[in-house]
Amino acid sequence: MQDSTMHEVGIMESAMSLVEQHAAAGAGRRVGRVVVRIGALAGVDNQALRFAFDVVSKGTLAEGADFEIEDVPVTAYCLGCEREFEGAGGDFVFACPDCGDFSGEVRRGREMELSRIELI
Ligand SMILES: [Zn+2]
Repeated sequence: MQDSTMHEVGIMESAMSLVEQHAAAGAGRRVGRVVVRIGALAGVDNQALRFAFDVVSKGTLAEGADFEIEDVPVTAYCLGCEREFEGAGGDFVFACPDCGDFSGEVRRGREMELSRIELI
């Protein structure tokens, strides 16, 4: 396993403990689908995350479940215009499409969370 994948495996391991708690509450039903929300700034590689899901879900109630990734785009906030806008083309600061000012106030895009677990 590559070093770069260890990050995603760690994320998946904590997500999987939540998935297993949820599945345990479902009285023996299996997990059919797991959906996670990943922000564009979360520093998560989707392909590595899929791989990590396969590895971590082996032998659990989630083995073989569909794994879905919802990409969350970056949303930044412009103080001058008092509006949110979709950030693009940057890593830390984003230019407001209206006034051109730079904003480092990121409202969304760092998510790394479970969105949905479906039992079957
Ligand atoms: Zn602005």
